Amino acid sequence: MKYVYWAVQCKTPRCTQVHYAREIGEITKHPLTHYLLESDNLPSEFHYQCGKCGTTHSYTPADMVAVESPRLSGLQQWW
Ligand SMILES: [Zn+2]
Repeated sequence: MKYVYWAVQCKTPRCTQVHYAREIGEITKHPLTHYLLESDNLPSEFHYQCGKCGTTHSYTPADMVAVESPRLSGLQQWW
Protein backbone atom coordinates (compact mmCIF):
# COMPACT_ATOMS: atom_id res chain seq x y z
CA MET A 1 0.00 0.00 0.00
CA LYS A 2 1.39 3.36 -1.03
CA TYR A 3 0.80 6.52 0.97
CA VAL A 4 1.06 10.17 0.16
CA TYR A 5 2.56 12.84 2.38
CA TRP A 6 3.05 16.56 2.42
CA ALA A 7 6.77 17.11 2.36
CA VAL A 8 9.43 19.74 1.75
CA GLN A 9 12.92 19.46 0.42
CA CYS A 10 15.79 20.84 2.51
CA LYS A 11 16.72 24.33 1.30
CA THR A 12 20.45 23.83 1.74
CA PRO A 13 22.08 23.70 -1.69
CA ARG A 14 23.10 20.14 -2.60
CA CYS A 15 21.24 18.67 0.39
CA THR A 16 18.38 16.78 -1.15
CA GLN A 17 16.90 15.56 2.12
CA VAL A 18 13.12 15.31 2.06
CA HIS A 19 11.29 16.23 5.26
CA TYR A 20 7.90 14.60 5.65
CA ALA A 21 5.48 17.02 7.26
CA ARG A 22 2.12 15.34 7.38
CA GLU A 23 0.39 12.17 6.25
CA ILE A 24 -2.41 12.68 3.74
CA GLY A 25 -3.40 9.02 3.51
CA GLU A 26 -3.47 6.18 1.05
CA ILE A 27 -2.91 7.33 -2.51
CA THR A 28 -6.21 7.84 -4.28
CA LYS A 29 -5.37 10.62 -6.75
CA HIS A 30 -3.08 10.66 -9.75
CA PRO A 31 -1.04 12.60 -10.53
CA LEU A 32 -0.03 13.73 -7.06
CA THR A 33 -0.37 17.38 -8.13
CA HIS A 34 -4.13 16.84 -7.73
CA TYR A 35 -3.64 17.01 -3.96
CA LEU A 36 -4.43 20.46 -2.66
CA LEU A 37 -3.23 21.82 0.65
CA GLU A 38 -6.14 22.99 2.77
CA SER A 39 -5.36 26.24 4.52
CA ASP A 40 -7.58 25.67 7.55
CA ASN A 41 -5.53 25.24 10.72
CA LEU A 42 -2.37 25.38 8.67
CA PRO A 43 0.52 27.35 10.20
CA SER A 44 1.95 29.99 7.87
CA GLU A 45 5.53 29.03 8.62
CA PHE A 46 7.47 26.03 9.88
CA HIS A 47 11.00 25.67 11.18
CA TYR A 48 12.74 22.37 10.83
CA GLN A 49 16.29 21.23 11.46
CA CYS A 50 17.60 18.92 8.80
CA GLY A 51 18.92 15.65 10.15
CA LYS A 52 21.34 15.38 7.25
CA CYS A 53 23.02 18.81 6.98
CA GLY A 54 22.06 20.12 10.43
CA THR A 55 20.71 23.43 9.16
CA THR A 56 17.37 24.81 10.33
CA HIS A 57 15.33 26.39 7.55
CA SER A 58 11.91 27.96 7.52
CA TYR A 59 9.25 26.58 5.21
CA THR A 60 5.86 27.84 4.19
CA PRO A 61 2.84 25.97 2.84
CA ALA A 62 4.00 27.03 -0.65
CA ASP A 63 7.04 24.79 -0.19
CA MET A 64 4.90 21.70 0.41
CA VAL A 65 4.63 19.07 -2.26
CA ALA A 66 2.71 15.80 -2.21
CA VAL A 67 5.11 12.86 -2.35
CA GLU A 68 4.60 9.12 -2.44
CA SER A 69 6.13 6.91 0.22
CA PRO A 70 5.62 3.62 1.99
CA ARG A 71 3.81 4.32 5.25
CA LEU A 72 6.10 6.07 7.73
CA SER A 73 5.82 4.95 11.32
CA GLY A 74 6.42 7.42 14.12
CA LEU A 75 6.18 10.48 11.92
CA GLN A 76 6.21 13.72 13.93
CA GLN A 77 3.55 15.67 12.07
CA TRP A 78 4.13 19.39 11.58
CA TRP A 79 0.51 20.36 12.18
ZN1 LIG B 1 19.66 19.48 4.72
